[in-house]
Amino acid sequence: MEIKNFINGHYQEAKSKKTIPLYEPATAKIVGQIAASNKSDVDEAVQAAKAIYPWWSARTPEQRSQALFKIAERLEQSLEELARAESKDQGKPYHLAKEIEIPRAIANFRYFASLILHTQESARPKADASALSYTFRKPIGVAGLISPWNLPLYLLTWKIAPAIAAGNTVVCKPSEITPVTAYLLGDLLNEAGLPHGVVNILFGLGSEVGQAIAEHPEIPLISFTGGTSTGKKILEASVPKIKKTSLELGGKNAALIFSDSDLSEAAIQSVRSSFQNQGEICLCSSRIYVQEEVLEKFLEKFVRTVSLLKIGDPEAKETQMGALVSKEHREKIESYVALAVKDGGTILCGGSRPKLESPFSDGYFYQPTVITGLPKNSRVLREEIFGPVVTVSSFKTEEEAIELANDSEYGLSATVWTKDLSRAHRVAQKLNVGTTWVNSWMVRDLSMPFGGLKQSGLGKEGGEYSLEFFTDTKTICIKI
Ligand code: NAD
Repeated sequence: MEIKNFINGHYQEAKSKKTIPLYEPATAKIVGQIAASNKSDVDEAVQAAKAIYPWWSARTPEQRSQALFKIAERLEQSLEELARAESKDQGKPYHLAKEIEIPRAIANFRYFASLILHTQESARPKADASALSYTFRKPIGVAGLISPWNLPLYLLTWKIAPAIAAGNTVVCKPSEITPVTAYLLGDLLNEAGLPHGVVNILFGLGSEVGQAIAEHPEIPLISFTGGTSTGKKILEASVPKIKKTSLELGGKNAALIFSDSDLSEAAIQSVRSSFQNQGEICLCSSRIYVQEEVLEKFLEKFVRTVSLLKIGDPEAKETQMGALVSKEHREKIESYVALAVKDGGTILCGGSRPKLESPFSDGYFYQPTVITGLPKNSRVLREEIFGPVVTVSSFKTEEEAIELANDSEYGLSATVWTKDLSRAHRVAQKLNVGTTWVNSWMVRDLSMPFGGLKQSGLGKEGGEYSLEFFTDTKTICIKI
């Protein structure tokens, strides 16, 4: 497979003619080559996006809405192909891609296609009726969209859909580790009739093509999802032009399990929240805190369920965990497990690579791993691991639970398990995170603001919040 850039509606090689290899995580085999783009490819994509911008931004919301509905429809016709490609490229179970992630990518287009038909501006007459002020929103220009490898099409379209719905044109950069569904998207956009140049997709290394997008003087806004250290580089690159920047970054999410919760449900859902997509979701629970008196009971149910998770062929129906995304990522995870042992932690299950038959014997699989007994200052409890490793610790009181959860540089999300409604509100309001789930996990309403606090990000995505980011709001005041 040759992954080429999609510029102005056409596929083309990187100007450098250089490529980088594409690996299949489940087999560790090279299955393709990816265009290794650089600044000159970004320049060309920006010119294509700029050329169509006056026309696209002048379409009515109804016209843009129709275009987005057509994209959704075209993606839906290719749901299975996209799900298969996503699973092969990222290592995730096929059924996860087919039932959750690609449907969500489709929903992203439908949601914003509909939302732009129903937005409202505000207006305020002066008390003596001598003047009227009102707000007016306009698109900004060429948006730079940079996305990570864990939910490739889902997260990329979560940016493309609101950006173009609001009237911008875009230059996107998906992760070089999982480029395939973004590559397939180009043809689907053409088949849906989206005018050439509205969406341009570039492939290659973050340090080259991503950095060139972040620095580009004709890209006035950047929407980025990825690691916190990369987010800081993007922020720095945006300073000279004071670009509008939205950063969705890493997390170290706590799950608080109170003794009055439905313990069985909390344990089962915590298995899902810790290990879905191999734990490679920014919102996965990575620190579980259980109230002292139910710790043993929770662990018994939790560890038993984790040990039964089926790891292997991502395409197989029974598979619950596929391969990690890359060799380097598995090595990073192994280094944290080794550190946990050094810090005195006890591994209750997992902690090594599973033994699988060919063709998966060399794939980047890793067993779901549960660790207890770590000291509070262990790096394993403080740094983002972003894989199938979860720690379990105990707490005595509600105050201690809140303190432990908030004792982190990150502030992305949390889950709270309790049957006490007052406690649920009280605790959720005190947690320094962008999203708190109570007795649930990953239930999403696309209109709600999504985004982390502290080192987990800057700005909010979702519904009106995305449209707000992808437009400039002006105030117009008329004397009557
Ligand atoms: P990453 O930061 O390494 O890469 C993300 C994207 O940025 C990739 O496309 C990459 O090529 C690009 N990039 C790398 N260096 C760049 C640079 N100097 N300038 C511009 N672009 C550059 O992240 P990753 O490893 O792909 O993804 C995992 C991280 O993403 C985790 O930290 C995870 O928590 C985070 N994440 C956050 C959310 C969220 O919504 N908060 C969602 C998913 C993933």
